[in-house]
Amino acid sequence: MSHMQIFYKLQQPFFDEEYLVYGDPSWDKEYGRAEWANEVIVETIKCPVYPSHQRAGERIGNLVILLPSGKTADFVWTWYSDCLITDRVLRLFEEAKFTGFTVKPVEVKLKDQSGKELIAPPVLWELVVTGKGGEADPRSGIRQIYACPHCGLKVYSSFQDGVIVNEQTWDGSDFFTITGYQFIIVTERVKNFIVEHTLINCVLIPSQNLVWKVLTRPEDLYPG
Ligand SMILES: [Zn+2]
Repeated sequence: MSHMQIFYKLQQPFFDEEYLVYGDPSWDKEYGRAEWANEVIVETIKCPVYPSHQRAGERIGNLVILLPSGKTADFVWTWYSDCLITDRVLRLFEEAKFTGFTVKPVEVKLKDQSGKELIAPPVLWELVVTGKGGEADPRSGIRQIYACPHCGLKVYSSFQDGVIVNEQTWDGSDFFTITGYQFIIVTERVKNFIVEHTLINCVLIPSQNLVWKVLTRPEDLYPG
């Protein structure tokens, strides 16, 4: 039997979770999350047939964010789960020759500078994942359950038993997503690198151990 790789979800810390592999829940409150500034524009997708299919589409232009404080960790997360990294982390990732991502510049503003000394905002980059994992292994239980022919809406079912990456469909990138889900998955090489460099304000969870936490599952809303 061939060696099965372990993959990890890279995410923000949540104060009420426990991380067995890497990450500290206390980072959630320590660093907080960045807000989108008002000038961030997102296209709206409207369905010509079903009004309920209206949703946010692509963001137009680069991110403009408000940082909660002048204290910046290696990773910064927005309320919409955008993953931002510092200039230093970008250089480290490039030196390590990680694949499957590109970066976009971020305009950073500090949320509240009243009564404080003016601090120069840090340079941050939006980590844009380009690697493709394809469809997850069928054992994950993720399948397309609905597709709207009018607006292109696609709905995928929840995962049942963690997310098992299908190494046959995975393009080999260090950073990638799987079909139907936006969250970032990384290789063991990235995980080891983050642990060795003790990069702050990120969490790594083995994808096979991911638990579906929301009460509703998409398949309850779109049966069939
Ligand atoms: Zn539709």
